[in-house]
Amino acid sequence: MTRILFSDKLDNCIARWRAAGLTVFGPVKTDTLSSYAAIEHASDFDFESVLPDRSIKDLFFPQTEPMLRYTIKKRAIDTEDFAPPNDKRIIFGARPCDASGLAIDDSLFGWDYKDEYWIQRRNESVIVSIACTKADDFCLCSSLNLAPDSSTGSDVLLRPLENNKGWVVEELTDRGHEAFLAIAELLQDGSDPIAPIAAVPEKFDLDTCVAWLQNHDNFESKFWKEISMRCIGCGSCTYLCPTCHCFDIQDEGDTYSGIRRKNWDSCSFALFTMHTSGHNPRATQSARWRQRIMHKFNYFPGKFNVNSCSGCGRCSRQCPVDMGITETLQKISTLQP
Ligand code: SF4
Ligand code: SF4
Repeated sequence: MTRILFSDKLDNCIARWRAAGLTVFGPVKTDTLSSYAAIEHASDFDFESVLPDRSIKDLFFPQTEPMLRYTIKKRAIDTEDFAPPNDKRIIFGARPCDASGLAIDDSLFGWDYKDEYWIQRRNESVIVSIACTKADDFCLCSSLNLAPDSSTGSDVLLRPLENNKGWVVEELTDRGHEAFLAIAELLQDGSDPIAPIAAVPEKFDLDTCVAWLQNHDNFESKFWKEISMRCIGCGSCTYLCPTCHCFDIQDEGDTYSGIRRKNWDSCSFALFTMHTSGHNPRATQSARWRQRIMHKFNYFPGKFNVNSCSGCGRCSRQCPVDMGITETLQKISTLQP
């Protein structure tokens, strides 16, 4: 016997969570874009799409964020910090690849410098993931040691029942348990059949790819130029990626006052590594693409023991010139290490 949340109880759940002081977020679709956004009613959710266009990262690491306000006076500089946000949230209907992406980014933001904005938002958020019963040709979680029902990064994992009747509830953390206590009486015991999870065929052998990337002789391989020739450096792949985390800190204002902001940046941009001298150690787009692949599958796992990719497929799905991680790793897996 398992505990089930039936779909027709979802509006009641939302009302209870809101009454308990939680803001409820979930996948939402507009005419032009789908993303994780605040919702008020169950009908606001988009559970039909394979996954939102924009990743869950937006809710934890916004595209731009004020850090401090400064005013320069004759003999002093006044500063006023922007405190990390303090709102409790439940994110209902996260995709397992997005939840896994958060766990990957935890390694970086909780590393030598503790990013208080990230950590505060993570501590204040309950992640309720739904195992995927649908996938598309771009999904590649199974090639990254993950799966459509991975629980990594989730506080609660829901497994859909057949005919969209509801979900079997698996509480994974104390935070998830506490959030579901608020709706405990809306859950029912049952043994309804669970829908099969999505089939996501493995697209490449990751170990073979990593061995090739770790071979220093391949750093200058002509492969990098060939595979990235059509990249226009738009940065979409990095902005939409749940695990890309590069940012720049800039003072925006005039000579006497302004705001210091943390803004997304991207290794796809030429200016990302431009030195003040004018020299750019990554002067070509192929060097930038090589960096992105090396960072995700060689440098990051070397430091944190986990790949910086959760297999959501957004980088390939949304690339305007039809490139992406999958094509690159598929080709690498056919090369001699
Ligand atoms: S790989 Fe595609 S999405 Fe990424 S920067 Fe190049 S053109 Fe843009
Ligand atoms: S690199 Fe591509 S597939 Fe991997 S997490 Fe980022 S967007 Fe998703």
